[in-house]
Amino acid sequence: DFEPAPYQRVVLKLSGEVFGGGKLGVDPEVVSNIASQVADVVKTGVQVAVVVGGGNYFRGAELSEGGMDHARADYMGMLGTVMNCLALQDFLEKRGVDTRVQTAITMGQIAEPYIPRRAIRHLEKGRVVIFGAGSGMPYFTTDTVGAQRALEIGAQILLKATSVDGVYDADPKKVPTATKFERISFAECLQRGFRVADATAFSLCMEHNLPIIVFNLREDGNIARVIRGERIGTLVSA
Ligand code: UDP
Repeated sequence: DFEPAPYQRVVLKLSGEVFGGGKLGVDPEVVSNIASQVADVVKTGVQVAVVVGGGNYFRGAELSEGGMDHARADYMGMLGTVMNCLALQDFLEKRGVDTRVQTAITMGQIAEPYIPRRAIRHLEKGRVVIFGAGSGMPYFTTDTVGAQRALEIGAQILLKATSVDGVYDADPKKVPTATKFERISFAECLQRGFRVADATAFSLCMEHNLPIIVFNLREDGNIARVIRGERIGTLVSA
């Protein structure tokens, strides 16, 4: 089932927290580092699309707990992702990589609208496509968008950057004997209640047989490693 590396086309999901280096806004050093890793692998011929989160600006759920209308707060969340997209675009282009930002909410001055077939054309030409504004719909997450975009543009794998090394049989922060899975099936994750991605994203991947690699972004160089096909993190597949 699973197509081993080298991959032809991947979707890399970066959470917003990454962009801010744990703070509000964008940390240029962090984004520059991510861009340099992506640039290195794109030059080897792998087609890379990036789905960008926005948790470093706003999370709809948090704003709505504070009293905002949930849907409107989610739109703020989606707009936040676009700022991260522009930052990543800038640092990639500084490294000589052509890019296109495509957003699910149209904003013609700064990005193309999301047009899947055009995204594929860009990828074929070696451009990095950066997907912003989530799905354009409230009540979704950018994890789900990562899965959906990967399916629609025919990526072989969803690479999900997180702050842990992969999927463990217990919380490694609490249980010192926790062990990491090199590989685990969708079914076992479900059965044992491991949260690899949000439920909607997970079920899309499982239903359509799209493998996910969960890997640790905090280790320098991991983005390039995982895109190149080095076996880091945990592979979740059928
Ligand atoms: N969001 C949304 N629809 C989407 C994607 C995102 O409404 O399709 C909103 C939602 O409020 C979310 C915020 O944008 O909290 C930021 O996205 P996410 O939480 O997925 O970012 P990450 O956790 O990856 O930083």
